[in-house]
Amino acid sequence: MGRLRPLALIPGLIGVLVSAGNALGQTPDEEFAIRLPSARTELRDAPSASELLAPTRVVVLGTGTPIPDAFRAGSSIAVIHKGESYLFDAGAGAVRNAVVARYKYDIPSLYPSLICCVFFSHLHSDHTMDFSELAHTMWWRRNAGLQAWGPQGIERIANGMREVHLVDVDIRTESLQPLRNPDGFRVAAQTIEPGILLEKDDLVIEAFAVDHGAIRPAFGFKVTTDDLSLVISGDTAYNETLLEKARGVDLLFHEVVSEEGLLRLPPDFQRIQKNSHTTSGELARLADIARPGLLVLYHGLFFGVEEGSVLDEIRATYDGEVVLADDLDVFP
Ligand SMILES: [Zn+2]
Ligand SMILES: [Zn+2]
Repeated sequence: MGRLRPLALIPGLIGVLVSAGNALGQTPDEEFAIRLPSARTELRDAPSASELLAPTRVVVLGTGTPIPDAFRAGSSIAVIHKGESYLFDAGAGAVRNAVVARYKYDIPSLYPSLICCVFFSHLHSDHTMDFSELAHTMWWRRNAGLQAWGPQGIERIANGMREVHLVDVDIRTESLQPLRNPDGFRVAAQTIEPGILLEKDDLVIEAFAVDHGAIRPAFGFKVTTDDLSLVISGDTAYNETLLEKARGVDLLFHEVVSEEGLLRLPPDFQRIQKNSHTTSGELARLADIARPGLLVLYHGLFFGVEEGSVLDEIRATYDGEVVLADDLDVFP
């Protein structure tokens, strides 16, 4: 593992470090961890003027897969626009990384109980494990319960989560603890159909169907604002609809399978992977037609091959800009 990792990702370190003042205005640097505040309660009625004026940003909260990874949380990408954070998937560890990103980049709307909305591409657990964490971290301080969109099955998950947390709800409701919002634990879950899911001022969030093997339906997302356009693949095999949606976007976040890694698998497993995911060669072909401003690889399936080699595989036939995302990378 040749990569240097930020101090903040060393488990347990943040908790023992002491805040050295207000995070507002803090510029990110490699020593950010020693200035991250610990255990802060954040409340607000509405976004600040500076949040409303800030350009759209994208923070990658998790770049991982179902395979446990010391450096990569489960899949999750946050789009921050005019003082609200919109999450796309919430794999295990995404909420923890949202807290880090809130202070590292000074984005108040990434404080977990201030995150308004989450959109699930599909309901594989590596994309949903932090759904409950997101909905219920400090639920009693939420302005409103979490809004969630997902494929068929999303309500079943939301109902199950509520059942799990009703004991906590009862304990807190019956105690002397002041509850800012006694209904903050409730999740508003909506089933996705392809098309526009949310329009707010100049933000448009659209879902389109992708091909994730036997997992039907599965969706990708296109997000457009006044200053940024992006497509998020979710998990998918090579997909023509995605290609059309991604034509000329500023940022294309796409999953990827290393072709070299794939060859290490038994033939049956290779076939399953190719049915459900996009190989580096296929993604290079797609990007060459779609020509995004920047291709960002996430949810990489490397199968034992050195991670960076997937970039070489793509660059062999694609001459556009491409990066392999790490957790907590920010774009543009
Ligand atoms: Zn996945
Ligand atoms: Zn999946």
